[in-house]
Amino acid sequence: MEIDRPALMLYERRDCPPPISSPCPVPELSEIVNRISGEARQADSAQERDFTPQTRHDWTRQQVLDLLGQPLLDLVDEARAVHRRYHRDGEVQLASLLSIKTGACPEDCKYCAQSAHYAKTTGLERETLLDVDDVLEKAQRAKDAGATRFCMGAAWREVKDGKAFDSVLAMVKGVRALGMEACATLGMLTQAQADRLAEAGLTAYNHNLDTSPEFYGEIITTRTYQDRLDTLARVRKAGVQVCCGGIIGMGETVADRARLLETLANLDPHPESVPINALVAVPGTPLADLPPVDPIALVRMVAAARIMMPLSRVRLSAGRRELSKEAQILCFLAGANSIFYGDKLLTTANNDVDDDLALIAEAGLSVEPPRPRG
Ligand code: SF4
Repeated sequence: MEIDRPALMLYERRDCPPPISSPCPVPELSEIVNRISGEARQADSAQERDFTPQTRHDWTRQQVLDLLGQPLLDLVDEARAVHRRYHRDGEVQLASLLSIKTGACPEDCKYCAQSAHYAKTTGLERETLLDVDDVLEKAQRAKDAGATRFCMGAAWREVKDGKAFDSVLAMVKGVRALGMEACATLGMLTQAQADRLAEAGLTAYNHNLDTSPEFYGEIITTRTYQDRLDTLARVRKAGVQVCCGGIIGMGETVADRARLLETLANLDPHPESVPINALVAVPGTPLADLPPVDPIALVRMVAAARIMMPLSRVRLSAGRRELSKEAQILCFLAGANSIFYGDKLLTTANNDVDDDLALIAEAGLSVEPPRPRG
């Protein structure tokens, strides 16, 4: 039996959830968040969870294809069983994502509004790095509204040492001082930069693989799949958690989706966080005219990710705004246990905060309260 030690330690450190005590500027929001967090605490004591999971890192593409191709209800059933075994059932983490430096990215990711390659057609204006105080004020607001994780994204190809990176380190320290998990996505990193982020207290680093190794070149030509894997390895070596997932709906095949999941699940240890995104077809980007993703394909990806990476947080990420309430609930049933919460996802619109809380309450789910983590 192979046990995923780092992931296991992460879960062994889970403590009794403290109440959300910060005052919220919106009383009704505060009341809703506290009520559904309280329900989480009650539900928690009633559940027995298994913290000695078997994880594996030897998936083949055919096995993943078989998993993705199962009858939908069987797939969701299996994913739900895995989810209930290793996670607090019905608990959803709220993560807030802020663009701290927008636009003019030298990379050519075909889905991205922030690429300088498509600036003429998207019309997105370049912005400078936000002030540390400004970012921390937004983090405080996100915390007050119930978010326990604050993610900061900068449209850089790679991090450059200097004033801007020093400011990001100050942001990371500030977010951690608020008692929130801090995540950053800044492009490629050297080992020294990953180590400095770790010293600043960064909880997790997001660096998505986006798609399969085979389809990747159709979407991005300015850096390689291996570049991405190398950055992930440096993050892991620095002792920072890995947040890594992908996007569906970019014209890839089901086999590409299977290869993405295979690559993610064969990382050892698994990424602690796996964002599953549906393409948001931004006008002016090369993928602007692609048809919307079938929500059931997204449910299948969430379910397969849950089964293949049983301890990871599976994040329902971009594209959620286009999903019906029912499709989102099906994703939660299939093992999603985190959403991005707030008006914006970097530069694209996100679901309304009140709608999200109403959905969580209506579905009988609960907001994950803050918990100490590494
Ligand atoms: S690296 Fe990130 S910000 Fe830059 S174009 Fe790609 S997705 Fe957009």
